[in-house]
Amino acid sequence: MKSYKKIRKFIPVSEPNLSEIEREYLIDAFDSTWISSNGMYLEKFKKLLSRYLDIPYIVLTSSGTTALHTALLAAGIKKGDEVIVPDLTYIATANAVTYIGATPVFADVLKDTWTISPESVEKLISKKTKAIICVHLYGNPCDMDKLLKIAKNNNIFLIEDTAEALGSIYKGKKVGTFGDVSVFSFYGNKTITTGEGGAIATRNKNFAQKSLLLRGQGMSFNRRYWFEVVGYNYRMTNLQAAIGCGQMRRIDELIAKKFRNANLYYKYLEGKIDNLILHKKLFSEKEMKSTYWMFSVIVKDFNLKKRDLLIEKLLKKGIETRPFFYPISSMPPYKKSKKDENKNCYYLFERGINLPSSTLLTEEEIKFISKTLIETIKELRNLR
Ligand SMILES: *Cc1c(COP(=O)(O)O)cnc(C)c1O
Repeated sequence: MKSYKKIRKFIPVSEPNLSEIEREYLIDAFDSTWISSNGMYLEKFKKLLSRYLDIPYIVLTSSGTTALHTALLAAGIKKGDEVIVPDLTYIATANAVTYIGATPVFADVLKDTWTISPESVEKLISKKTKAIICVHLYGNPCDMDKLLKIAKNNNIFLIEDTAEALGSIYKGKKVGTFGDVSVFSFYGNKTITTGEGGAIATRNKNFAQKSLLLRGQGMSFNRRYWFEVVGYNYRMTNLQAAIGCGQMRRIDELIAKKFRNANLYYKYLEGKIDNLILHKKLFSEKEMKSTYWMFSVIVKDFNLKKRDLLIEKLLKKGIETRPFFYPISSMPPYKKSKKDENKNCYYLFERGINLPSSTLLTEEEIKFISKTLIETIKELRNLR
């Protein structure tokens, strides 16, 4: 395993944390020649996820995006339907809706946890609304009680996009276990990785069967080369699953490192400079617990230009950061006429950055990042 003693010249915003265990499993899968979408690591990975989440059915997919697409299809979402998604999220959440010919409708987010605002969702519900996709952004759990109530009262489907929050907790239970279905991503920068990969988790056997059918080109389970529906090739490979099995063996360690990162950022940033809002403290097992996928900050008095300058200056000092997601409604495929409808999304996006959140960071590095961040914000505040 890689381990860094000193402060690296270039500190990445994230990086996969791979050990000898993942390597051993991967070579074992390779040597078995089961390198395609059958093999024992696929079965094992499914079981490990199922046990971890305490959810009976897991369907593994080629990515988080294909998991979302499959889940929407299995939920029966069709052309002309509306699906409410947060305006502040990774593009995949909205794109999956568009693949189907349905319309994503963009809700605002809460100012403190940055997750979808239940009040905003309620206002957007129409006769056409068939589903809500809530996103546990940057590891922060959504307000599940309110969202579940809205979904139930309006008889609409609730999908949890848990791509950024494997292991996060809402009221004592892991996120991804509240909605009708949840999806995960195992991209290289996620809490655990398989390179590319994803999963659908559900308690509904029928839903799992439908997802499995769609994921596997629509081929009948008991009649080979008989295709019941137009499906997709969205399968995961045994090689990916082998890496996933190794990562699942280490998941507690990986999440503990994310907490350590958060605690060190609080130690070195809290109360050190005005108008810097730190990632909300979500430490409570009984209420909300974030896994801090990306430890993030908001510079209250900045605008887009200064925020981008901050990112640029930090990069010059060897620290890679990321801007908050652009509101989806601001980008070409989804551009709407009324720009500032989702006020909180625009406010956060113009002022927010994700700090390095790798599980391989050292305390010295987090101390250096924090000091450099404060110093750079001060430099920019002195600019006219
Ligand atoms: C990463 C991510 C996805 C899926 O991404 P893939 O790269 O397709 O695995 C979906 N939604 C959110 C919020 C994500 O962060």
